[in-house]
Amino acid sequence: MTPPFEPYRIKAIEPIPFTTRKERQSLIKKADYNIFRLNAEDIMIDFLSDSGGSAMSNSQWAGIMKADETYAGSQSFRNFEKAIQQLMHFKHIFPTSQGRVAERLLFSTTKGENLIIPNNVHFNTTATHIKKIQGEPINLIIAEGLEPSSHHPFKGNMDCQKLSECLEAAADRIPFVFHTITCNGNGGQPVSMENIRAVKEICKSYNKPLFFDACRFAENAYFIKQREKNYQDQSIVSIVKEMFSYADGMTMSAKKDGLANMGGWLALNDDAWAQEIENELILTQGSRHHGGLTGRDLVAITQGLEEVLQEDYLRHRIESTAYLGNHLAKRSIPVMQPIGGHAVCIDAQAMLSHIDTQHYPAQVLCIALYIEGGIRSIGIQEKGFVRLAIPRRTYTKSHLDYTIDCLGKISQNKENLQGYTMNTPDSPEYVQYLYARFEPLAHALA
Ligand SMILES: *Cc1c(COP(=O)(O)O)cnc(C)c1O
Repeated sequence: MTPPFEPYRIKAIEPIPFTTRKERQSLIKKADYNIFRLNAEDIMIDFLSDSGGSAMSNSQWAGIMKADETYAGSQSFRNFEKAIQQLMHFKHIFPTSQGRVAERLLFSTTKGENLIIPNNVHFNTTATHIKKIQGEPINLIIAEGLEPSSHHPFKGNMDCQKLSECLEAAADRIPFVFHTITCNGNGGQPVSMENIRAVKEICKSYNKPLFFDACRFAENAYFIKQREKNYQDQSIVSIVKEMFSYADGMTMSAKKDGLANMGGWLALNDDAWAQEIENELILTQGSRHHGGLTGRDLVAITQGLEEVLQEDYLRHRIESTAYLGNHLAKRSIPVMQPIGGHAVCIDAQAMLSHIDTQHYPAQVLCIALYIEGGIRSIGIQEKGFVRLAIPRRTYTKSHLDYTIDCLGKISQNKENLQGYTMNTPDSPEYVQYLYARFEPLAHALA
């Protein structure tokens, strides 16, 4: 149950600023009990997101110095393109400054009206981009995927029956199908190769392209190797190549499995569509050799892609996340099973059953964890979940053990925790979480 030791040693360190419980009580009050309003120096361990917080390797830092910042024809771009094409075979690769910019390029050049885009679970920016073009994002994940206690090995799988029905009913409104790998919407649950293959077959029979939202493709490949029949003896690289052989395009955030602090890309095979995307890119982010990134960002991603596929890295990554989740479960804290690749999801609603759902049990747990240990997580209010997302190569087992201790203490005294009221500002739905103000019920009633 103990994960392998960290497959790296530390060459540069970033000191953690320590705070006391009393300081944290006052800091979080000042932040209106919204963890997005805390400053970085007020946080001891940050599990808000696994995005962009990866520690880079000595080879990435060395490559940054050698990067080519030429305006056009840069060598850094050509190496980036080659690295992606060797794994993912796509004809056209467009670097972007983030995954959501790749989404924006894709959806702003998608033809048609009243569009429907199926996915296992759409990421929030993807869903919002689709709504912005008056389309309808729909989630077709298998039923087990939404069942916190189900131990299905691939809880990110698409429900193929539902996908077929959807295409049968509205094929003319569906320009392409998306599949998110791993599925961030439920805590990084993987998608099986069998499911990818079946989804591709359905897409083929309706003549629809299949796109991957591939932010955590390497973690997904490791799960396939561990859990799917006939893949135990294959290399991660060959599993990745097979996964992408079924895709016609992809969006990517290099802030996840690119092991970089910024960046992403959009890739596809269709020539005419690629030309439109290139035109749009030039107007907004620059030439297709940059896409809003510097040469050094491209080098960091190129090198990151090589490192993220190393099996020692992936074994540690997946097993240490599982270690955190399994030890919480041992302390009778209800966690989503099996543990996902990049995050542990705690069912706060089940854990704090004495708190009415309208008083935000997820927020209660999230704030309690900050006050107890200076640990930042995120409360996903609609689902009543708290998510601990683990940045790559940033924290050690000691940090996980400390987190397990803090949550264990909270769990022992959970009856004392009280709910919150929330005040949402008048702003678009997709940014409300940034501005929401919470107040402890005890204060509100006083
Ligand atoms: C992070 C993420 C995105 C968006 O990427 P950014 O780089 O944050 O813009 C899209 N889809 C999924 C599944 C993600 O996890």
